[in-house]
Amino acid sequence: RIVYVNGAYHPEAEAKVSVFDRGFLFADAVYEVTAVIGGRLLDFPGHCARLRRSLAELDLPSPATDDEILAIHRELVARNALDLGHVYLTVTRGEADRDFAYPKAGTAPSLVMFTQARASIETPEAERGLRIASVPDLRWGRRDIKTVQLLYPSMAKMQAKRQGKDDAWFVENGEVTEGTSNNAYIVTREGTIRTRALGHDILHGITRAALMRVAGELDLRVEEKPFTVAEAQGAREAFITSAGAFVTPVVEIDGAAIGDGRPGPIARRLRAAYLETAIARAI
Ligand code: PMP
Repeated sequence: RIVYVNGAYHPEAEAKVSVFDRGFLFADAVYEVTAVIGGRLLDFPGHCARLRRSLAELDLPSPATDDEILAIHRELVARNALDLGHVYLTVTRGEADRDFAYPKAGTAPSLVMFTQARASIETPEAERGLRIASVPDLRWGRRDIKTVQLLYPSMAKMQAKRQGKDDAWFVENGEVTEGTSNNAYIVTREGTIRTRALGHDILHGITRAALMRVAGELDLRVEEKPFTVAEAQGAREAFITSAGAFVTPVVEIDGAAIGDGRPGPIARRLRAAYLETAIARAI
């Protein structure tokens, strides 16, 4: 695999960053993941815009222009002959002597990008639906910034796996915030799609924004309102969205089947409609 590091392309075994990189020492870094289908990038402008916002929120210097970032994405896709999967991008505050205070202005940020091939469209998860375990949301208070501080989500995923489940949903003050790496939704008994409103407590998913548009086009009602685990268990359907999973049905939470325990028709329709429009707009 060919990996991009600060201006150059390297075979992955030769791609290196400093042990003093603040991404490594402080998780002082943000990231993006952009899906690739047929060698083209899905929702790229959205991912670029969110990267800009994450950088600004943390006073991280920008490593490159949007056009340069797009060109690197395309170059990596081409060099790795990537058909299906995603491009991962991280920007760190760069290399500096270890100190909690940010280094003085002028320290160059690090930009690292790589591809991962994934059979993302016809997955067993999309076919049979996900089983979810709820866990307390113990993450920090700025989940809207896409930082690489991913230890707790990783622990939550392992806790779900140990229970024989596929993934975890975080719960705060009795309400679901989001999944470990995805936004969470239910379809109520009335047929309304419900998902938590944007704020500091969840990531502003790029796939979530696309889902809202697609739902509108399908004349499905969406309300931005939180829900409890009990409400999810009593819902008609449930699903998640992310750049990696697109729209994937959820069929169980904390051992209780949702609906008839099989992927619901609305989730399936939304997955197909999302993929169709995202592929049509891919660049
Ligand atoms: N929430 C969290 C916590 C995530 O990590 C992700 C994926 N990175 C998402 C939601 C979904 O965001 P997107 O649709 O932009 O991939």
